[in-house]
Amino acid sequence: MRDHHRLGRSAAIVALSIATICASPYAFAATNEQPPADVDWPLHGLTAHEDRHSPLDQIDRENVERLGLAWSFATGSRRGQEATPLVVDGVLYATSTWSRVFALDAKTGRELWRYDPKVPRDVGRKACCDVVNRGVAHREGRIYVGSLDGRLIALDAKTGSELWRVQTVPKGGDYTITGAPRVVGELIVIGNGGGEFGVRGYITAYDAESGEERWRFYTVPAAPGQPYEHPELEMAAKTWSKQSDWASGLGGTAWDSMAHDPELDLLYVGVGNSSPYNREVRSPGGGDNLFLTSILALRPETGRLVWHYQTTPAENWDYTATQHMILAELEIEGRKRKVLMQAPKNGFFYVLDRATGELISAEKIAPINWASHVDLETGRPVETGVGDWNDEVRYVMPGVPGAHNWHPMSFHPETGLVYVPTLSNVWPFHADEDYAYVPGVMNTGEDWPGFHDALRWIIPFCNPAHLTAWDPVEQKLAWKVEHDHPVNGGILSTAGGLVFQGNGAGFFAAYDAATGERLWRIETGTGVMAPPVTYQIDGVQYIAVLAGIGGSPAINFANYTNDNAGRIYAFRLDGKDRMPASGPAPGGVVSAKPRPLDAEEVDRGRALYASHCSRCHGQWARSTGWLPDLRYSSQAVHENWESIVIGGTYSGKGMASFADRLNAEDARAIQSFVIERALAVDSIAERVQAWAVDNLCLPTTWVAD
Ligand code: CA
Repeated sequence: MRDHHRLGRSAAIVALSIATICASPYAFAATNEQPPADVDWPLHGLTAHEDRHSPLDQIDRENVERLGLAWSFATGSRRGQEATPLVVDGVLYATSTWSRVFALDAKTGRELWRYDPKVPRDVGRKACCDVVNRGVAHREGRIYVGSLDGRLIALDAKTGSELWRVQTVPKGGDYTITGAPRVVGELIVIGNGGGEFGVRGYITAYDAESGEERWRFYTVPAAPGQPYEHPELEMAAKTWSKQSDWASGLGGTAWDSMAHDPELDLLYVGVGNSSPYNREVRSPGGGDNLFLTSILALRPETGRLVWHYQTTPAENWDYTATQHMILAELEIEGRKRKVLMQAPKNGFFYVLDRATGELISAEKIAPINWASHVDLETGRPVETGVGDWNDEVRYVMPGVPGAHNWHPMSFHPETGLVYVPTLSNVWPFHADEDYAYVPGVMNTGEDWPGFHDALRWIIPFCNPAHLTAWDPVEQKLAWKVEHDHPVNGGILSTAGGLVFQGNGAGFFAAYDAATGERLWRIETGTGVMAPPVTYQIDGVQYIAVLAGIGGSPAINFANYTNDNAGRIYAFRLDGKDRMPASGPAPGGVVSAKPRPLDAEEVDRGRALYASHCSRCHGQWARSTGWLPDLRYSSQAVHENWESIVIGGTYSGKGMASFADRLNAEDARAIQSFVIERALAVDSIAERVQAWAVDNLCLPTTWVAD
């Protein structure tokens, strides 16, 4: 690693200009001029290359300890906050839960307007991973947001009034949108999610002015006999079995990452996992199953495919390639290469030639056991066989949360390092022998009651998470910081020699970009998952970040110690505002009245709860905090149980009716299970169990080795 401390400012500017000269809004970086007084964060990843590295350097290693709160803003939500705010002309645009948009004075935090797309709350049932949103796009006085129920909406940036909306997914289908739209020339491009539920993935480009559809690219073919919507699907269809589980849609949703190279005229799109996960069921007889878990390079004008690279052929473990992609220029073996870098869920860090899609290198960035390495000749991972879970339960690393999830990385051109929020985790994959596609529920092919039981009786694995500084040229670790909490934030790096990251333990921190030494931190109380941004107004540099834990993988790991109140924080040197205090974690009293419980009914309720309720309310009725812990349900809830579960009387609060899946007898069985759990809450066995889950864990390396 180069010695960052000895890099003078001119050398830094030269190094910076190499990486940012293309398509950068920071033309000054290449010209030796002083940055202007006001510097925006105009695009989701700061630049079209999505490097999330700012040339601002007012806050640096020497003075970062003077950082203090400039202002904070309450989002009015206690669920996951994942947005990257944009800052344009002094206004900060952020999103929160249920796709709500906030426009704030970026200097003071004063609210200018808010927009609520009024997402029907029963759509929350279709969101695999909370009702989150990752942010807006901005272009020529307009703000664009994708709503959870699948609309793309254009707003007036000044007033927040709606200009137009288009429905981008079939109404009533199982699609959702959580990702940020991207501006690509005159187009607004938006994908969607829902792969776990069984949908057919695609990405769509709309005219930024009118909202008219310009093209749509499907990531998987339609069932045999259906026409190919575009020629690439003919090639893709050859990689699927004729007996594939066509009803499930096959997955391949592009729910988050994109990057754009205006010079090469290519739009890169990351494609998600399969539906169902289990490949033997999905495509009996094999096949790579294009374009699942692939990186696509599309021609923005037409939506035609130029190249593709599949990270995980015959995907089997939810190994999405929707993770953040960074475009950069690297010198590799004496040659300047225009590269695309991605650390998808599967545990490898990939460097591709982004003009051709050629694989340059791939190395493990976290402990994994499903593959030994990536063969550079074939470009394919070499599977170990450990991950074949069709016939028996297998403990696979990484698990469904991935070695890196949606949390963005950054690339610092001076240190040459990519900063990646990495995870280590093990997942017990149980095949559901009776799996058949059912609309409106998780269609992963996993046996949820089996999974639920495994989490009960096996002390969970430790899930150490790191801030990992990775050298993409040497493909090796430069340094890493271990976190106390498994769920942590996205990354920002700056020319001040700093890396910023929040964490699930309720801190926001700055690290030395060269060494990883922690130079500053502040207690946010609420955990942080979202990536920070930085901007400058009237010559003052600010760092802003959203706080609030939720979604996946928090559902399985997080354990709140506070009220998880969602906030936007902005920091500056010598900021004097007081950090707002966080409230106590939701707890409660057991109000369930004992009733004679039938052991068989409780057991049936256990399995039904695992399949239908645990994803949001927590395994074994023990909520991690982002949704009510049913053990502490009020007497009124218990009295109205059936009308809530079947009748949908709480659908306005986000608890949709399950009438399509459950009958009154099922609802009663689930209630019996919940009552059994509630009455056991203070028992010694339950306390020991809860203590063990919270305090003990097995090293993940036992599985990796
Ligand atoms: Ca997934």
